[in-house]
Amino acid sequence: MKAVVIREPGGLINTRIEDIDEPRNGIIVKVAYAGLNPVDINTIRGKTNYKLNPYPHIPGAEFVGTISDPGKSEKFKKGERVIIFPRIFDGTCDKCLEGKEELCRNGGIIGVTSNGGFAEYFSTDEEHLIRIPDGMSFEDAVSLPVGGLTSYHALKLANLKSNERILVVGASGNTGIYGLMIAKYLGARVYYISRKEWLKDLGAEPWNGETVDVILNSLGSEFWDKYLGYMDAGGRLVTFGTFTGVEGKLNIAYLYTGERSIIGSTGGTRKEMLELINIVLKNNMKSKIWKIYKLEEYEKAIEEYDKKDGRILLKL
Ligand SMILES: [Zn+2]
Repeated sequence: MKAVVIREPGGLINTRIEDIDEPRNGIIVKVAYAGLNPVDINTIRGKTNYKLNPYPHIPGAEFVGTISDPGKSEKFKKGERVIIFPRIFDGTCDKCLEGKEELCRNGGIIGVTSNGGFAEYFSTDEEHLIRIPDGMSFEDAVSLPVGGLTSYHALKLANLKSNERILVVGASGNTGIYGLMIAKYLGARVYYISRKEWLKDLGAEPWNGETVDVILNSLGSEFWDKYLGYMDAGGRLVTFGTFTGVEGKLNIAYLYTGERSIIGSTGGTRKEMLELINIVLKNNMKSKIWKIYKLEEYEKAIEEYDKKDGRILLKL
């Protein structure tokens, strides 16, 4: 099968399309679409916060497909369309038993700490598969396991309530689009920071320095200080990314005198994935797809990532 393979650490130059053996064990999924996210860009560029495993490595954290061989599974049938839950978890540690698979003591991320979905076939188990309901296309489903779930989980941790004000930084990004749509669905007043005019169509307003209750900012160092000061008393800033760097400054007095909080968030749970699928289906939420490339064109897709105007997908 064809796959994107990272031979050794150190960027796009060490990555190529190779013809490798198809996986044989477990449940085999024929990949239909994969989404390109910061986690994949960092993996390929050798800048990930995690230790890549294995080498040679197939990246790709976010993908959907059709079961081509259910193996020994009795729960899944050949031909069923599925989302792959991107978190690796053992299901037995205290965090998993609390329902927090994203914090598993022995956990990881598919495409980072295991091989991923930038390949024609992917092998997995029942616990990582979630059915795509009738009425939801692959194109709508593929943005949910990373882009959608990350934002949904972050908004739950921030406890965003209806009528609260939220500022979404990087609103035209993969997670930002869902952050905006889900915040709107939850009844919040949504402000965005972005030059993209099409965000207005999602029911949000451009930000003009208003104070807010919640800030969603996952862009890392370069954008950290800039918006931190706009939290109202009782405000919460939630972050889940470091695309522009890992360090940021903080005025501690600002935090405690207004009882403001900074919340770290990562991925989401399988239960939240199910909730999100229902919300997206019932409200006909759609991400903005900018370009769809073939797997063989992954280099071009990665080169264009920084100037994208909506999602970049790989179609297999
Ligand atoms: Zn666990």
